[in-house]
Amino acid sequence: MKVLSVASEVFPLIKTGGLADVVGALPLALSASGVEMKTMVPAYPKVKAALTSPVKLHEFDDLLGEKGTLLEAKCEGLDVLVLDAPAYFDRPGGPYTDAAGKDHPDNWRRFAAFSRAGAEIAAGVLGGWRPDLVHVHDWQAAMLPAYMRYAETPEIPSVITIHNIAFQGQFSPAIFSELQLPPHAFSVDGVEYYGDVGFLKAGLQTATAITTVSPSYADEILQPEFGMGLEGLIAARVSSLHGIVNGIDTDIWNPETDKHIEANFSVGDLSERSKNRRALAGRFGLDDDNGPLFCVISRLTWQKGMDVLIDVVDDIVRQGGKLAVLGAGEFAIEGALLAAASRYRGRVGMALTYDEPLSHLMQAGADAILIPSRFEPCGLTQLYGLRYGCVPVVARTGGLADTVINANHAALAMKCATGFQFSPVTPDGMRGILRKVFRLYEDKKTWTKIQKQGMKCDVSWEKSAERYATLYAGLLARDL
Ligand code: ADP
Repeated sequence: MKVLSVASEVFPLIKTGGLADVVGALPLALSASGVEMKTMVPAYPKVKAALTSPVKLHEFDDLLGEKGTLLEAKCEGLDVLVLDAPAYFDRPGGPYTDAAGKDHPDNWRRFAAFSRAGAEIAAGVLGGWRPDLVHVHDWQAAMLPAYMRYAETPEIPSVITIHNIAFQGQFSPAIFSELQLPPHAFSVDGVEYYGDVGFLKAGLQTATAITTVSPSYADEILQPEFGMGLEGLIAARVSSLHGIVNGIDTDIWNPETDKHIEANFSVGDLSERSKNRRALAGRFGLDDDNGPLFCVISRLTWQKGMDVLIDVVDDIVRQGGKLAVLGAGEFAIEGALLAAASRYRGRVGMALTYDEPLSHLMQAGADAILIPSRFEPCGLTQLYGLRYGCVPVVARTGGLADTVINANHAALAMKCATGFQFSPVTPDGMRGILRKVFRLYEDKKTWTKIQKQGMKCDVSWEKSAERYATLYAGLLARDL
C-alpha cells in the first residue's frame, strides 16, 4: 500500500510541536504493516540544509502563481518529498512566523500551494510513484483533499488527522479567487466557513475519513466547547471519525540508551535515576534536597494551563517542592515564570528556550511532570514521562485522560496507577491534586510502584500504527 503523508513539519527535519514527532514516527511504525509511506514537507531553509543528496523528481509550473521543485531524499529511515518553492518557504523565521514571531501574512497562499502540489502528486504527476491513499495533517495540508475533490482526475481515498482543532487556517473570503478552485467550491459543501475560507473545514468536509489523536478528544470535539465552530460538521461526519492515540518513538525515547541524559536506567533498577535528578537540579540552579522536583516542558500558553501553573507556584514551593520549567510562549506567562524564578532562587528554575536534549534530561531526572492543559488532543510529554519514570500529573482531558491511570483508591489497590489526573483546570483543582502528590511522594514504596507501572506501559506506536493500517485498508477496499 503506497501512502503519501503530507504535513508542515516532520521530526527530525523541522519541529515546533507534537505534530512533527507523530509525522516522523508514523512511516517507520507503519512499514511493519506493509505500508510504504512517503512524507511531504515544505523546504524551509532548515529542512533544505539538512538534506543529503536530494534528487529532483518534478517541476511544478504554477503553484498559485509560483514555481516549485519536488526533491526526494532519505533521512533517518524516512522517505521525504520536499517541496522547494523559494517564494514561499525560503525565508527567515519559523515555519509559520517571521523572525519577530508574527504569522507570515501569506500563510494561506504558502500552504494552499503546498496542498495543491500534494494533490497533483495524488493525481499521478510523478509517473513512477502514485499513492493509493493520502494522509494529511492539520490545516496546513487540509486543502489537499479539497483540491482532489474539485480536480478532473478521480480522487483517491484520503485521511485527515486533527492534531489540534484550535488551529483552523481561517482566512478572508477575498483569497478564494486566488486558490485556483472552481466557483462552486465556495459553498457549505466545500471551503466556505462562516463566510470565510476555512482550510481545516475544507479538509474535514472533503477527506474520506477523519481521525484525531485520542478517543476522548474525538468525543470532545463533538461539543462546542472543544469543537471551536467545527462541532456541527464533525457531528455530521461522526461515522467517519476515528480517535487513534499517538505513540512515541521508543528508540529515541529510551532511558536505557538515551545519550542526552546523565545516567541510563531501566524499570528493573531506578537507582541511577538520581544522577539525572542531580544533573537537572544543577542545570536549573535548584537545591538538591529531598522535596519532589517537578518539571514542565511545554509551549507556555493558555491552552497548556500555564496561567494556572503560575497561580500554584507559591504552593509548590511552600510544600517543599521545586520546579524546573522549559518552554517559551506568551509574553505575560514567560514574565510571570521568570519572576517566580527570581523570587524563589533554588526552588524554581526557568529555561526560556527550545532545547530537545534538555527535555530528555528533565524527563529522566524530575520526579513528576505537570501538564495542566485546558484541552489536549493527545499530548506527548506525559508519554515520555511514563517511559522515563517521571510521573505525569495531568488535567483530565483528551489524550491525557486516555493515557494516564489516575492514582485513585481503586487504581492503587489494583496496582495499576501510573500518574495523577485532576479537574477542573483551576488553581484550586491543581492545588488539590498537588496535596495528594506530595503525600504519596513521601510513601516511597508506593511512589516507586507508580513510576514502574508507568514505565511498563506500552507507549509505542505498534497498536496505533495497526489501527491506521486497518483504517487505510478499509478505505481502499471500499473504494474498489
Ligand atoms: P503540542 O504539540 O501541543 O505543543 P505535545 O505534548 O503534543 O504538545 O508535543 C510537544 C512536543 O514538543 C513534545 O515532544 C515536547 O517534548 C516538545 N517540547 C515542547 N516544548 C519544548 C521545549 N521548550 N524544548 C524542547 N522540547 C519541547
